[in-house]
Amino acid sequence: TGPVRVSGLAERPADVGTASRRTALIVNGRVVRDHGLTRAVEGAYRTALSPGLRPSFVLEVQLPGDSVDVNVHPAKAEVRFHDRWEVERAVERAVRRALGVLDSAALVGSGVRTWHAPSGQAPETLLAPPTDAPFHGGAPLFAPGDDVAPSAPDEDPSIVPVPPLLQLRRTYLLYEHEDGVVLIDQHSAHERVLYERFMRQMTDGGASAQRLLLPETVHLSPRDAESLEAHREPLARLGFELEPFGGHSVIVHAVPVPHRRFDALRCLRETLATLSGDRGGTVHAGHETLVATVACKAAVKAGEPLAPDEARALFRALLSTALPAHDVHGRSGIIRLSWDELERRFGRR
Ligand SMILES: [Zn+2]
Repeated sequence: TGPVRVSGLAERPADVGTASRRTALIVNGRVVRDHGLTRAVEGAYRTALSPGLRPSFVLEVQLPGDSVDVNVHPAKAEVRFHDRWEVERAVERAVRRALGVLDSAALVGSGVRTWHAPSGQAPETLLAPPTDAPFHGGAPLFAPGDDVAPSAPDEDPSIVPVPPLLQLRRTYLLYEHEDGVVLIDQHSAHERVLYERFMRQMTDGGASAQRLLLPETVHLSPRDAESLEAHREPLARLGFELEPFGGHSVIVHAVPVPHRRFDALRCLRETLATLSGDRGGTVHAGHETLVATVACKAAVKAGEPLAPDEARALFRALLSTALPAHDVHGRSGIIRLSWDELERRFGRR
């Protein structure tokens, strides 16, 4: 077998649902229908779309002739892969990477939809060939020429150059990009950063927890106590060491410290309240709902002033996530206003 190449167009999450859905799959030059590949595309949008929304796309998959049998039944547009898992994974990864660039962020106004596509890529969100390179290989959160280190860890502040950031309404971070003005929602950004970090901790462990000198007793409502029982093990992996204490109380021995403003007990209470109010609404697989809820409650909120160094650290950390432009609730985390659009509105063109 050889490499699987994926190219095409994937709809921006902010545009999904605004028009009727259209999909097309082309495998080795032939239009096919394939539920597995369609599911793989949709899987790539996980957390970037509101539940129930399904994206439009046109994807062309090319793979060595001996890896696929397109002639299963000429009339039925079916296709048989020798290694289906590999192809689906390549498709999901390619779409995921396309959703990781600034070009996938919501755009104010209509007109030209291009946002400085990385060289070698066509306008819109043309997918890069699948490689193991991290998404920021060509991710234009910065102008080309800026050296964005691959998978820059958010611990190393020296690597990523940060443009001057302006906090607006204690809610948004604004900066100037080569192609226009970019607005970041600070809560969405922080939530995305924490979500991806917490998800890694769920699989790899390594949450840094801080033992409380004086363990705290937290009293819960019966429903919240129930949802705590249901989530005690994943909460432990995130750094919450909790011991049931008769009735609906729990003793908190250790808590995570994801950032310096973190209020662990408030986060725990709010997380449990949200989870127990969310009966049957679990749309995400595995621990994604819990982790998304904890990330939401742990993140800085709208209305909180950020010191300049905090804003810069947030920007850098956001850049190192897989989906910087999309918040974990399926909303936009970044909105762009292009110079083209501004010039049109000012009558300059
Ligand atoms: Zn949130």
